[in-house]
Amino acid sequence: MLKFACKDVGLECDFVATGATAEEVKEKAFAHAGVVHADMLKTMNQDALAQLTKTVEANIKPA
Ligand SMILES: [Zn+2]
Repeated sequence: MLKFACKDVGLECDFVATGATAEEVKEKAFAHAGVVHADMLKTMNQDALAQLTKTVEANIKPA
């Protein structure tokens, strides 16, 4: 089991995504971000989003 927590990237948010694979965790994290952190995503350009994706991938840890 793997997990990603919004807190790990400095967000004031208690959301934790879990999944069997990094891909699944990433999908859940971005589905969550698209709803709860939509305002933040809207302010980000393509480069910032690519960087965010890398940051999320780097913060997926064993649960
Ligand atoms: Zn969040």
